[in-house]
Amino acid sequence: MSYCCKCGNKLIKKEHKNDGLIPYCSKCGEFRFPVFSAACSMVVMNPDKNKILLIQQYGKKRNVLVAGYINKGENAEDAVKREVKEETGIDVYNIKYNNSEYFEPTNTLMLNFSCVAKSEDLSGINNEIDKAEWFSFNEAKENIMPDGSAQRFLDFFLDHFI
Ligand SMILES: [Zn+2]
Repeated sequence: MSYCCKCGNKLIKKEHKNDGLIPYCSKCGEFRFPVFSAACSMVVMNPDKNKILLIQQYGKKRNVLVAGYINKGENAEDAVKREVKEETGIDVYNIKYNNSEYFEPTNTLMLNFSCVAKSEDLSGINNEIDKAEWFSFNEAKENIMPDGSAQRFLDFFLDHFI
């Protein structure tokens, strides 16, 4: 960030008492900490931990991971539980951090977690989801949308945690 988000003035670096050199607007007289959105994306495993849930959304015929924005004031782990529940009706536990990726077009930091579903029942998927399906690890690798963050998160998870 190099310009003030409120007045457009060029920012300088100024010593902040707790955080070292931070962008500062001398016109507003305020520090401008980085501003971005945060989202979570989930490698959801079935109760036996041998399948992964992939979904199709918004009329697109491509398999991705369940994902959603983290609300202001919300812990990432709570967002994981809430988003999976809202989108699929499934409760998850054993939430573990996997990897992250910054997505420039929406200025969003995507945090990926793995979690375990309490049920494989997909009858509660909401109407934002066109299709949800459990895949074996190998099938998930083959069927996930190529070259996107979902694929990179899934590969990272399967390479490092399985
Ligand atoms: Zn300013």
